[in-house]
Amino acid sequence: MCAVGTGPDDVVDSVVFPTGEPEKTLARAVEFVGRADLAAVGIGSFGPVDLRHGTITATPKPGWSNTDVVAAFAALGVPVGFDTDVNAAALGEHRWGAAVGLDTFVYITVGTGIGGGGMVDGRLLHGMSHPEIGHMRIPHDRARDPFDGICPYHGDCLEGLASGEAMKARGDSSVELEAEYLALGVLNVVSVLSPQRVILGGGVMNEPGLLELIQRRVPELAAGYFALPDIVAPALGDRAGVLGALELARLALG
Ligand code: ZN
Repeated sequence: MCAVGTGPDDVVDSVVFPTGEPEKTLARAVEFVGRADLAAVGIGSFGPVDLRHGTITATPKPGWSNTDVVAAFAALGVPVGFDTDVNAAALGEHRWGAAVGLDTFVYITVGTGIGGGGMVDGRLLHGMSHPEIGHMRIPHDRARDPFDGICPYHGDCLEGLASGEAMKARGDSSVELEAEYLALGVLNVVSVLSPQRVILGGGVMNEPGLLELIQRRVPELAAGYFALPDIVAPALGDRAGVLGALELARLALG
């Protein structure tokens, strides 16, 4: 998705097109934003990415490995902000949505895959490259769920067991099992980062009752030990990422 504007109430133009071949897809995006009078560009990219060089690294998406995303926008002659799609979504929620006024929070999206970004002490989470929340290992009770998982790297990591693709491959996924895995994932994040809030977005989270089951299960798993965050839906819905990219552009102006 591409948008031109400065915020949720000022999107002057937007377009959605599928991710095809890298050259054509990027050319289309550059052409679309290039029509506007731009001050800066912000990009929230699927990963994994190299944040220093503005490139996508090794991805199973055909043709996209080692694509230089930032360079494709260089011809526009304006500053380019670049981060992961999930950090962009976190930034959008921080500026206008469910994380306004917080300085430590996590945004997790549960869709085809599982990804996460967020802020610690008011700064976007980066680290050596960027977090891969979807690939954390979680307890897998094979008596309850004999499914091997679908992650090509780890089999039964969180994404391998609880992504939309995993649910489809398992065939008989229940909302209770999905809630169990996501609650385990949220508790791991709470253990490491002590966030003030956890925002759960993505298509799978539209499943009726799922958010409520996770909200109930996390305190049970925590067993009274942790300071627990609110667990909420995104306030910006599926626009969090593209609005966050507008904020990435503003930050790129320095
Ligand atoms: Zn994995």
